[in-house]
Amino acid sequence: MIGPDRASSRFVAHRIAPRRASLPGGDPVGAVPDGIDRPLPSWPFRCTNCGRRAADGPLPYCCPTCGGVFDLEPPIRFQPASAGPLDAGLARYRSMLPLPEEASLITLGEGGTPLVSATVDGRTLHFKCEHLNPTGSFKDRGSAVLLSALAAAGFLEAVEDSSGNAGASFAAYAARAGLRARVFVPENVSPRKRAQIAAYGAEVVEIPGPRSRAAETVREEASRGATYASHAWVPLGLAGIATLAFEIVEQLGQAPGAVVLPVGHGTLLLGIDRGFTAMQEAGAIDRRPRLVAAQAAACAPLWAVHQAGGEALAWVREGPTRAEGIRILQPVRGDAVLAAIEASGGTVVAVDEPAIVEGEAELARLGFYLEPTSAVVWEALTATLPSLPDPVVAVLTGSGLKAEPAVEASRMGSQHA
Ligand SMILES: [Zn+2]
Repeated sequence: MIGPDRASSRFVAHRIAPRRASLPGGDPVGAVPDGIDRPLPSWPFRCTNCGRRAADGPLPYCCPTCGGVFDLEPPIRFQPASAGPLDAGLARYRSMLPLPEEASLITLGEGGTPLVSATVDGRTLHFKCEHLNPTGSFKDRGSAVLLSALAAAGFLEAVEDSSGNAGASFAAYAARAGLRARVFVPENVSPRKRAQIAAYGAEVVEIPGPRSRAAETVREEASRGATYASHAWVPLGLAGIATLAFEIVEQLGQAPGAVVLPVGHGTLLLGIDRGFTAMQEAGAIDRRPRLVAAQAAACAPLWAVHQAGGEALAWVREGPTRAEGIRILQPVRGDAVLAAIEASGGTVVAVDEPAIVEGEAELARLGFYLEPTSAVVWEALTATLPSLPDPVVAVLTGSGLKAEPAVEASRMGSQHA
């Protein structure tokens, strides 16, 4: 099912102050001493299903009334006059982010990633190097905003579920903010990503079964009162990712004609779409780019629905794929993602396993060492390039240094290919 998750409508919000757990070893950095009163945090969210605004208090990961997905209200706006220094990365856009004015930005220097051009099939393409963010993936933009909001509201712990990159990013920014993090991961998570999550001090909870089982388990935790700071459900991260669009336009000096990017839940695509929309509304660009989404053919619900309508979901499987980071059977914002793609005149490409391997090799020959999830953009690029208007940008989402050992082993054999 794509769209609001009705099963989660059993979630009940309680209007209570955020829990302030006491941690072994004393108060962490940024902790609020017990006994100090502070106003209940308010959340700039509105339900995309029933239209209700989020109540002040604990962080709601979905609408407590109908189980619908929250979106930002108001949406992010592009205000160039209030931007910070050009080289400040995400912090350049601090004043545009949905954070309380007095909130400190929890930052590791994310954003400000290079836009590198290369010639492919006689065309000049631009690669946005998001794999060079502090934890090795684009997720850091969203984590910076999410953890800044949680820290400002006085939370001391939160849970997240992830196939790896979001969990690692969440754990890093939680460490930076002084929050205790628990990350639920599927049992097939890359050992490197698991180690990275644990290294930041987060508790790693391995859940047997597919990726979707980890997501179900963490929602059960949320129903028991845990703060579920989901990168997929909580809309704060979308504003962080919108800064990616701001940077692309500022680096190119114009709006791209098309952006090609991997899509699992689709937070990257939606965040970028929000960014371009904000720039268009501010008069900074006069068109929005075509959005080309790449999915792994082994698990391609958005591709299936784009091709054949909602009935096609019945035959979509959570099949095994090298691109484990986008192995998402039920995209939380599936309807919104498809709407954004279709409104842009874009499309969805399903990439099979041999084409993912080829993409890894071709991108490496251009000097980009990426995880397989990132490399799906290659096939999507080459399949659609003749029809894409210049300038074309591909988003490189995750570092190859985090790929699982089996992927690494397969690359050892491909050196003479
Ligand atoms: Zn609702």
